[in-house]
Amino acid sequence: MLLDLEGVSFAYENTQILADFSLQLQRGEHRLLLGPSGSGKTTLINLIAGLRTPDSGYIRIEGEDMGGATRPVRDDLRRRRIGIVFQTLRLVSALNLKANLELAQRLSGKSVELADIDGLLRRLGLHERAGALPRDLSQGEAQRAAVARALVGRPDLLIADEPTSALDDRNTERVADLLIEEAELSGTTLLIATHDARLKAHIGAATMLHPGAI
Ligand code: ADP
Ligand code: MG
Repeated sequence: MLLDLEGVSFAYENTQILADFSLQLQRGEHRLLLGPSGSGKTTLINLIAGLRTPDSGYIRIEGEDMGGATRPVRDDLRRRRIGIVFQTLRLVSALNLKANLELAQRLSGKSVELADIDGLLRRLGLHERAGALPRDLSQGEAQRAAVARALVGRPDLLIADEPTSALDDRNTERVADLLIEEAELSGTTLLIATHDARLKAHIGAATMLHPGAI
């Protein structure tokens, strides 16, 4: 099992967000995490990524304990195994796109492979923008750069948090196709959190979150 959550509960102070929640994903499996705004999608992603810890239950990535581990162990596990496409682009503003990807690959603990970075930029339609600074990217380019940033560390698990919420239909299609193609190319497990029903056309399997359903 690449991702294994069992009986996970989590509350912010008095607000219970998840209760006895379980989710299993096999290596290479693709899943949508569907739910309206406020249903706990980002919270769940933060738990899987080890940015928060559950009140109870287990979270394991390829058998390695994420939920119960210390912060340095969680940070290490995240860097080695997980790539996250955040809603907003998180690049170093003084570095161009290619230099950002080299830095991100180094931070993931992998050796820097310039051929990988060039291939990724080409597949994402960003090769002509390799020398551009983050602020000079268009919205569609920035979203594809966020995908590149998440993939450059060759993660086992790729998580995207609302990757298409700010995009028009054409760019939504493009980003969804790219996420799926890149995940398939490398056998990466893909979890996309969204309230965007347009993505159901791309990934059939979905897990629903409901606000206040617990
Ligand atoms: P989603 O990503 O599905 O929109 P979130 O996980 O961001 O949902 O939020 C779930 C609920 O938890 C919301 O009601 C939100 O207001 C609340 N929440 C999110 N972050 C915090 C926080 N740091 N402290 C307290 N409540 C929070
Ligand atoms: Mg969210």
